[in-house]
Amino acid sequence: MLIALMCPKIGLMCGYNFIIVFFALLLGSCNAQNTGVSKETVQSKNDSLMSLSNDDWKQRLSPEQYEVLRNKATERPFSGKYVNTTAQGIYVCAACGAELFSSNNKYDAGCGWPSFSDALAEGRIVEKPDLSGGMVRTEIQCARCGGHLGHLFDDGPKPTGLRYCVNSVSLDFKPAD
Ligand SMILES: [Zn+2]
Repeated sequence: MLIALMCPKIGLMCGYNFIIVFFALLLGSCNAQNTGVSKETVQSKNDSLMSLSNDDWKQRLSPEQYEVLRNKATERPFSGKYVNTTAQGIYVCAACGAELFSSNNKYDAGCGWPSFSDALAEGRIVEKPDLSGGMVRTEIQCARCGGHLGHLFDDGPKPTGLRYCVNSVSLDFKPAD
């Protein structure tokens, strides 16, 4: 409207340009909105998981899962359901379903907890210094929901040399088709 008002005597030509500019702006804003919405959806899902209260998590998780995933407890060695699992598939976060580990990287470390030599992909696991219990360790958390998984050690097999030592309680297993 502003352009049309500014040049009323030029007439058709100006009006035509104005319409093109108008539609270009409209299209541009639609595209921007679409991209914005999809990014926001993913982001807000992560944000909402990260901002859940302890009560929210208590409702979502079993008491055992809550103790490990939210209170960083450790299940007794050799007690977890995935210690000896050798089936092919993907291990996901028991709290949020994020895909964390592949059976391809699972190995028998003899330590009593499911052990993996690598994460499924970069960015799935967050590492945090853990000085609790008079030890210097590296805690591992689910990157999506912040759930406690276990600890990371450097005594794993080659080529990574890593051992992701994970509580079975923090995991669900999805068998390969
Ligand atoms: Zn998670």
